[in-house]
Amino acid sequence: MSTQAKATTSTGVAAASKHELNRFVLAESELPTAWYNVQADLPELPAPYLDAEGNPARPEQLAAIFPPDLIEQEMTTQRYIDIPGAVIDVLRTYRPGPLTRARMFEKALGLPGNVHIYYKYEGINASGSHKANTAIPQAYYNKKAGITKLTTETGAGQWGSALSMAGSQLGLDIEVFMVGVSYDQKPYRRIFMESFGAKIHRSPTRLTHAGRAVLEETPETLGSLAIAISEAVEIAAMSPDTNYSLGSVLNHVLLHQTIIGQEAIAQMELAEDEPDVVIGCCGGGSNFGGIAFPYYHRRLEGKTKARLLAVEPKACPSLTRGEYRYDFGDEAKMTPQMMMYTLGHDFVPAGIHAGGLRYHGDSPLVSKLYNLGEIEAVSVHQTDCFEAALAFGRAEALLPAPESSHAIAAAVAEARAAAEAGEKKTILFNLTGHGFLDLAAYDAYNKGTLQDYDFSAGAQAG
Ligand SMILES: *Cc1c(COP(=O)(O)O)cnc(C)c1O
Repeated sequence: MSTQAKATTSTGVAAASKHELNRFVLAESELPTAWYNVQADLPELPAPYLDAEGNPARPEQLAAIFPPDLIEQEMTTQRYIDIPGAVIDVLRTYRPGPLTRARMFEKALGLPGNVHIYYKYEGINASGSHKANTAIPQAYYNKKAGITKLTTETGAGQWGSALSMAGSQLGLDIEVFMVGVSYDQKPYRRIFMESFGAKIHRSPTRLTHAGRAVLEETPETLGSLAIAISEAVEIAAMSPDTNYSLGSVLNHVLLHQTIIGQEAIAQMELAEDEPDVVIGCCGGGSNFGGIAFPYYHRRLEGKTKARLLAVEPKACPSLTRGEYRYDFGDEAKMTPQMMMYTLGHDFVPAGIHAGGLRYHGDSPLVSKLYNLGEIEAVSVHQTDCFEAALAFGRAEALLPAPESSHAIAAAVAEARAAAEAGEKKTILFNLTGHGFLDLAAYDAYNKGTLQDYDFSAGAQAG
């Protein structure tokens, strides 16, 4: 087509054929109006959460920190759940998101014409990641339940940023317990959250029993996600107008993320292409579930044969090296126990830069599908991820988050394997966020000081 004269529209703009377009765009009116609940389609129901006594947790037990609608979404097997109009109004400030064929990247990799790479980009909102997709409905349902304040923890900072933004849009106070070391190392994340009106504490604090206990024993502590969770949950459990909010792992979080996969399906239809493999990086599993579950449903409908591939860091390989068993969500054992792939709630992953992937466990829903053989998982080293991220970024003019770079590394491996085997392959990956506030990680990679960690050689706590 490139050598032929192109058809022009009445405005004189060249009308490209679908087969040379880069970007596939949905109108605002095409934003999905319901979330897809994979629980409706699981061959077996996931095992129930267990309470402190080891009995199946009852909804009332979660009511101290979560609103009724989210508890309902956690447990329901209804296939589609309508997105409230007020949530759609806020999602529309940045959605639908783009889906792009990475033609410049395909060229840079020297791929043959029958190997296609597409990416769904979630870095388009100011907080910079897919986490806004659940922060908004969580803020909405809490406000609806009469809650005036949400507490949460943040490590890498993306979740605190997303919730701060959602709080400012929906009129809720947000209080973030930020892991001490991140608070010191990532001032821009703190400033971002404060700019959206949130209150940020360097955790541990003297505001909670949990924080004071830690500070008494180790006054110089740098904090940890587990301590920050304990502080946020304690504050929420103490006051009736305050709830707690979690940015990954739980069923309702993955539910909210399914707008990613639903948009992607519509956009791949616009591209007249069908993925052979759908890839997402995997920390707590929310973006992977978000892009993969609607494709799982599409597979059940017989419309696709797409493989679903979760990518995790070699330093924290919960699916590929963990055990499938009941475990706590946090080190302090304050959460219910969940049936999931886990490296143990006391596992402390090495300090890789993809902070959002340093979680010992995995979403119970992703774990269930992995256990049933419905999805696949691989693990990758962080230096390979940064190499792939920069190759991608230089071709496509984008700076990926370190977490997202795991999906890119796997996409490159899939593309190269297809090219070598002379196979036709269409690859779709989720690019979960931008890396504008992760420049220190790129600096380390550029200077050659970035280190790889293996799970077996990792810092495993007792
Ligand atoms: C938090 C985060 C992740 C990992 O979380 P999941 O729940 O596994 O999706 C991935 N990418 C980015 C940019 C994140 O902020």
